[in-house]
Amino acid sequence: MRTPLLVANWKMNGDLALLTAMQQGLSAQAYPNVELALCPPFVFLPQAQTLFSSTAIAYGAQDVSDKTAGAYTGQISAQMLSQLACTYVIIGHSERRMYCAETDALIAAKCAQAQAARLIPILCVGENAQQKQQGETQDIVLSQVRAVLDSLPTESIEQLVIAYEPIWAIGTGHAASPIEANAVHELIRSCVAGYDVTLAQNLRILYGGSVNAENIATFLLQAHIDGALIGGAALKPEVFAQMANIANQLSK
Ligand code: PEP
Repeated sequence: MRTPLLVANWKMNGDLALLTAMQQGLSAQAYPNVELALCPPFVFLPQAQTLFSSTAIAYGAQDVSDKTAGAYTGQISAQMLSQLACTYVIIGHSERRMYCAETDALIAAKCAQAQAARLIPILCVGENAQQKQQGETQDIVLSQVRAVLDSLPTESIEQLVIAYEPIWAIGTGHAASPIEANAVHELIRSCVAGYDVTLAQNLRILYGGSVNAENIATFLLQAHIDGALIGGAALKPEVFAQMANIANQLSK
């Protein structure tokens, strides 16, 4: 049984007041059947630690350095995130692949750094609109997954989450169809099974791309969709709480 995971990716949005509002909004109710995680910008993580470390809500970062320490101005190491008691770190988000020219090799190195510091990478994979049109979804997604898995010890899959995020669905209001997304998730799971069958069965694969309170149930009802990575809709405490509630009810 895979516990559903909902992750809020704030991107470069939000402030300290929003973090407090999230804490208040989410503490009004318990969500025993789901796991929730907030990934605000780095600078708000100390406040996240204060607000959430004694709660069931996890938190994490949106990126991490591929280096351990040293002269890398502006970078944040996995060890630093670990000191703030982060659980997760989003790695390889398409916005970083696009705007920061992150390669599969760099993303694999970041995942290794994260796991060495006992952080759980949320590895993002997904095709763009043109690749989808050209029928390349499967090849793109599998090559992104394999680039990381080939470079990690097989047992590290236990400490990994994968998020399938078709780029054309991110922030556009045009989510993938749940059935199509589920087919890609199934493909990812069968690829991971090539490394280890049991770890593949236990692996949580999240869907991301225009998930909101109206459509989240349709994704969570799919056999291979184990949660969601949520951008825009997770910036409103009442909407994130509503989605948590829906996921909690479905997973009873
Ligand atoms: C994301 O940023 O990972 C994302 C899925 O964004 P949105 O939910 O806004 O599409």
